[in-house]
Amino acid sequence: MKNNNIKNVVILGGGTAGWMAAAALSKSLANANLDISLVESEEIGTVGVGEATIPHIKFFNHLVGLDEKEFLRETNATYKLGIEFVNWGKLGDSYVHPFGPYGIDMQGVHFHHTWLRQKRKGTAKPIEEFSLPGMAAKAGKFQHPRPDLKSSPLSSIDYAYQFDAALYAKFMRKLSEGRGVKRIEGKVTSVKQNIEKGHIESIELESGAVVEGDLFIDCSGFKGLLIEQTLKTGYEDWSEYLPCDRAVARLSERQETVHAYTKATAKEAGWQWRIPLQSRTGNGYVYCSKYISDEDALASLNRDLDTPPIADHKFLRFKTGIRKKTWNKNVVAIGLAAGFLEPLESTSIHLIQTAIARILTNWPDKHFNEHDIEFFNRKTQAEYEQVRDFLILHYHATERDDSPFWQYCRSMEIPKSLERRIAIYKENARLYREDTELFTPVSWFAVFNGQNIEPSRYHPLADILDDDKLETRMAELYRATQRCVEVMPSHEQYLKDVCR
Ligand SMILES: Cc1cc2nc3c(=O)[nH]c(=O)nc-3n(C[C@H](O)[C@H](O)[C@H](O)COP(=O)(O)OP(=O)(O)OC[C@H]3O[C@@H](n4cnc5c(N)ncnc54)[C@H](O)[C@@H]3O)c2cc1C
Repeated sequence: MKNNNIKNVVILGGGTAGWMAAAALSKSLANANLDISLVESEEIGTVGVGEATIPHIKFFNHLVGLDEKEFLRETNATYKLGIEFVNWGKLGDSYVHPFGPYGIDMQGVHFHHTWLRQKRKGTAKPIEEFSLPGMAAKAGKFQHPRPDLKSSPLSSIDYAYQFDAALYAKFMRKLSEGRGVKRIEGKVTSVKQNIEKGHIESIELESGAVVEGDLFIDCSGFKGLLIEQTLKTGYEDWSEYLPCDRAVARLSERQETVHAYTKATAKEAGWQWRIPLQSRTGNGYVYCSKYISDEDALASLNRDLDTPPIADHKFLRFKTGIRKKTWNKNVVAIGLAAGFLEPLESTSIHLIQTAIARILTNWPDKHFNEHDIEFFNRKTQAEYEQVRDFLILHYHATERDDSPFWQYCRSMEIPKSLERRIAIYKENARLYREDTELFTPVSWFAVFNGQNIEPSRYHPLADILDDDKLETRMAELYRATQRCVEVMPSHEQYLKDVCR
């Protein structure tokens, strides 16, 4: 019987997406008798931003066999306990979207219902004070979770990293090449398709070299050289919901104290990020070109840097949305070639990671089963839509009307799926999680509450405790959180110790 197993895998692109894919496939499919090549062009280069992540990256790092200490040292990384949002609900507001729960769930209902009850009574402390990661981030503290201390908030904190994306890709490259991935330098100038089915058979480089493959993974960045320029797959444009379409990025000196959180400050026509690494700070203004010029965005970024710049600025253009199919024929698009949702919640690298996991689950043979492909595309679309809705909430749930940009955002039409979620929360504070949706009720609550959306009522089960018990229980939780923050080491010192 003819063997239809995939033999040659060609990854086009050596940015974060390409090298993450190479590292994961070469590890997970080590016994599948595959030849994996990665084609990249130094002349074209990579996007080179993408420094903040979410906790799931730890699973990926584990999968590819990274040692955390080595990874922190090699990528200049810091720990990340959440994101601080400044000026989003209204000017002067600030809240943290933490990586980990608030308090603990009581009577089978989410903690926020109990907190809302206390808030109605007028005795509640700010919600942040029940969040260990949020409090620790602001206090400059960090330590790994302690799952062994079952009744302590230390058991349930979670964390991610902030790192130099270029160094991360380099690190992935080292791992991949060590496992036999063949790197080919060169610019792709033409693509050969099968006449009958339209599948891609080979790519030709400027040098004249031809690289043949059975499966092509398109990690060529925004242009989507195979998925779009060759296969004309089409793009679903979401810029009516997520209108920012440009960014200007600039590195600055390291902060005196390196924070274990990313800061996202809403501005006149978008928002500015600040991502602290061990050796420097990443900054950028993500903005909507309809409401501010490039020159004004750059001036605004420069004005709001916390530390002196150490490199020239870099402009980037994008269109938020997703390819109509991220898997088309024998091409799977990953990373920016698949779509882009803007970096507000640091989700792009995560979406690379889940796409890789999905390819592994649905690993094809040369028949390229249509049902597998349809399943892959449906799951990818659902995942992007869920993240999209979460991002839109940040823009839409605002009282700001101090600029045409915010006037647009607060009154724009939003997807029905998000409209439903907002209506349910406003009515009874409930937060439903769809299947394996990335963002948990804790994340949704952080943004709803942080951006001043008040529900009409809370879950009736939150009324079960009598008033005295409620106050005692909440006071205990509050004290437990404060005590943990006090005993945690400083992030700065912890990093030094780990990286030593
Ligand atoms: C402003 C901004 C901020 C971001 N911040 C974050 C963040 O904080 N967190 C996060 O998770 N993500 C972030 N991202 C997303 C993140 O940068 C990307 O997801 C990540 O860098 C992956 O990019 P990529 O590998 O898909 O594409 P690229 O980095 O663009 O790589 C494309 C590769 O394809 C190669 N290539 C292209 N054309 C050819 C050709 N013709 N021949 C040969 N090779 C070719 C290039 O040489 C390059 O190697 C951000 C993105 C932007 C725009």
